[in-house]
Amino acid sequence: MNQQSNNNIVNGAGTAVITGASSGLGRVYAERLAQRGYDLLLVARRGDRLDAIAKELGTRYSIKARALAADLAAAADLDGVADAIAADDSITLLVNNAGTSHLAPAEQTPLPVLASLLNLNITALTRLSLAVLPGFRTRNHGTLINIGSVLGFTSIPGSSIYSGTKSFVLGFTMGLQNEFAGTNVRIQLVAPASTATEIWEISGVPLASLDPATVMDAAQCVDAALAGLDQGELITLPSLETAVLLDDYEQARQALVGAINRGQPGSRYLPR
Ligand code: NAP
Repeated sequence: MNQQSNNNIVNGAGTAVITGASSGLGRVYAERLAQRGYDLLLVARRGDRLDAIAKELGTRYSIKARALAADLAAAADLDGVADAIAADDSITLLVNNAGTSHLAPAEQTPLPVLASLLNLNITALTRLSLAVLPGFRTRNHGTLINIGSVLGFTSIPGSSIYSGTKSFVLGFTMGLQNEFAGTNVRIQLVAPASTATEIWEISGVPLASLDPATVMDAAQCVDAALAGLDQGELITLPSLETAVLLDDYEQARQALVGAINRGQPGSRYLPR
C-alpha cells in the first residue's frame, strides 16, 4: 500500500527548508508551509526574488522567513547549504524541489547542461536529504519531500536525461522510505505531471506548445501534493485520478522483483 504509518496533518512547528523557492512549485510550497505555521528558509539562485518572497510571507503569516541565495549545482554553494541545514536543529521539513530540465535528444545535450541536470536534480537532492536525515532520525521527527516527476516512471523522446535524473529521485526516495520505515520520519515522493511553471521555457519546450487540457496549475499541484502528504502517502501523483493504478504498479513491481532471485537463467536463455 502507498501509505506511511503516521497519518497526521503536517502543520508547522520548526523551520521548513524549500529549495527552488523563487518560482513555480517551490514558491507555492513556501506560501502553503508559511500558512501552516512553519518558519522558512528559502533557497535558490535569484536572491532578489527570495528576499521579496521571504519578506512578504514573513509579514503575512507572522513567521520568520530567511532567504539563502545559492547555486545548488555548484559544489561550494551546495556544501555551504548542506552544512548550514545539517547544523540547524530547528529544521523539521525539507522540500527538495529545485530542479532543471532540458528536453532534447541526449546526444544533443551540451556538457554544461548535462552537468547542471545531474548536479542539481541528483547530487543536490541527495546531499541535502542526507544533511537533514540524521537529525530527523535522532529526534524521530521530520518530513522530507522529494520532487520527482511522472517522467521518472517513463522516458519519452527528448527526456532521456531528465527522466534518468527523476528515476534516480524515485529509486533514492523509495530506498530512504525503506530505511526509515517504523520511525516517525515521513518521506514523500511527489511526481507531478505537466504543470505551468517557468521550467518549460528553460527546458526548450514552450508551455504554449502543450495542450492546455494536460497542464496543471502550480497551486493545484502543490495543494494536491500536500493533501497526499496529510493522507500519509509515500508516493503522490497529483494528477492521478485512479489511485489504484499506483497500487497495481507497485504489485507488478513486487511480483517482478520476487521472481528474479532464482540463481539460474530463465529457461528461454538455455541452449536448446
Ligand atoms: P521552476 O519554476 O523553473 O522552478 C525551479 C526552481 O529551481 C526555481 O526556484 C529555480 O530558482 C530553482 N533552481 C534552478 N536551478 C537552480 C540551481 N542551480 N540552484 C538553486 N536553485 C535552482 O520549475 P518548477 O516546475 O516549479 O520545478 C520544481 C520541481 O518540479 C523541479 O524539480 C521539476 O523537475 C519538478 N517538476 C516540474 C514539472 C512541471 O511540469 N513544471 C513536472 C514534473 C516535475 P533560481 O532560478 O532562482 O535558482
